[in-house]
Amino acid sequence: MKYYSTRDSALRIGGAEAVKMGLSRDGGLLTPVTIPQIGADFLNSLVHASYQRRAAKVMALYLTDYSEEELLGFAENAYGPDKFDHPAAAPLRKVDGSTHCLELWHGPTSAFKDMALQMLPQLLSAALRKTGEDKTVCILVATSGDTGKAAMEGFADVPQTRIMVFYPRDGVSDVQKAQMVTQEGRNVGVCAVAGNFDDAQAGVKRIFSDGAIRKTLADRGYFLSSANSINWGRILPQVVYYISAYCDLLRDGEIKMGDKVNFCVPTGNFGDILAAYYAKRMGLPVGRLICASNRNDVLTDFLRTGVYDRNRPFHTTMSPSMDILVSSNLERLLFDLSGENDAEVRGYMEALNTSGTYEVSGTIKAALREQFWAGFCDEAGTSETIARYYKEYGYLIDTHTAVAAQVMEQYRAATGDGTPTVFVSTASPYKFCDHVLEAIGETPRGSGVELLDQLHGKTGVAIPKRLAALKGKAPRFDLTAEKAEMDGVVLDFLK
Ligand SMILES: *Cc1c(COP(=O)(O)O)cnc(C)c1O
Repeated sequence: MKYYSTRDSALRIGGAEAVKMGLSRDGGLLTPVTIPQIGADFLNSLVHASYQRRAAKVMALYLTDYSEEELLGFAENAYGPDKFDHPAAAPLRKVDGSTHCLELWHGPTSAFKDMALQMLPQLLSAALRKTGEDKTVCILVATSGDTGKAAMEGFADVPQTRIMVFYPRDGVSDVQKAQMVTQEGRNVGVCAVAGNFDDAQAGVKRIFSDGAIRKTLADRGYFLSSANSINWGRILPQVVYYISAYCDLLRDGEIKMGDKVNFCVPTGNFGDILAAYYAKRMGLPVGRLICASNRNDVLTDFLRTGVYDRNRPFHTTMSPSMDILVSSNLERLLFDLSGENDAEVRGYMEALNTSGTYEVSGTIKAALREQFWAGFCDEAGTSETIARYYKEYGYLIDTHTAVAAQVMEQYRAATGDGTPTVFVSTASPYKFCDHVLEAIGETPRGSGVELLDQLHGKTGVAIPKRLAALKGKAPRFDLTAEKAEMDGVVLDFLK
């Protein structure tokens, strides 16, 4: 399988090379040239398989320069009992009737980013070997809270790698911050940025595209790559859990082979829902893809109207991992829906850069309407949904998951669609204790990790072990930079 760029459809590189590069030199996103097709036989062969085996089978379809045994070994390292606190890694919980919740936060950092970031470092390490690379790779990450921690956890002390994480100073939860500034590992660095997530992401993109910095780093024996969801090695492991969820529904007799299932995904950078789109494109029987946003509803407007417009206020919400106005992965969707028209995609991205807005073609608009449905949930709706799920189903969900649950309900009310629906749970409620406590009618006593015990005392839900271990852990990092200083931070880190 070869990969090309959303901005250059003539490019051809291998899978290992694509994982190593992260982003194409032309600024586009690397994307598989064809989408492998799966049918009933393939799905049947996975119904009784472990998550690890499902992962190896699905990933092998795309990464043909890795062997299936190799991928199975990676999956066993990534999703085994020393990393995940649930044997199914990504279990499906039946909420009621035809509603199911896909829990993606059983990994080491209690957010869904672990599903990909326990895998990516292994794919990348092997890619360095396969491509005969002798330089050290430095992963630069802009994080809205969860990616940074999950990436450091995955890359900590991996040979031939360094990792530097930038997070928005006032845009992450106390627990998220505690997780990051206490990170262990000789090869990691963490820095707060005076700005929001988009500022941090723009800073990282600027460093990537700066030829002079690349040259300086190359002279020092480094090259830059990305662990953000622009890297194909992040998207692919996420395709797995949609297929896995379908297999679980088959296994449990909830659906028959070929029955359609809807997925509702709480969305920020459009990576998670893009993976669902690829699963659908592969032939998984998926009905609607429901895109759930918080008050930062740029994607809701886009999917409804075909006009992307980032010129709007940025809201800091209780679901910070979705506080994003520029969703990078949309570019892969536009490329696919335009019939791999790189010139058309370049046009949209240029317009986004210069004016902050673009309008897609009639063809793309029609495809968006057919395949997606979009809605958003405000702060009050998020709290109300947490309270209601706790009361009605005894199910404690986090702020991001609540956005998805509520938008799923909006979809059903608007369309009357009774198709079995899976909404995606992306974080443990313990990462957002303050808002979750308030939502269920408690007054938080203290802040950050102090609240873990209070939420546990009230609900009896088990505290993820590694979050409990944060109590009393001393911070290792306290660096803050202005946006313009991010280059200097990187050069200093890689002295
Ligand atoms: C990253 C994240 C999201 C958004 O996922 P995208 O792939 O950026 O759309 C949603 N919820 C949580 C908890 C996250 O960490």
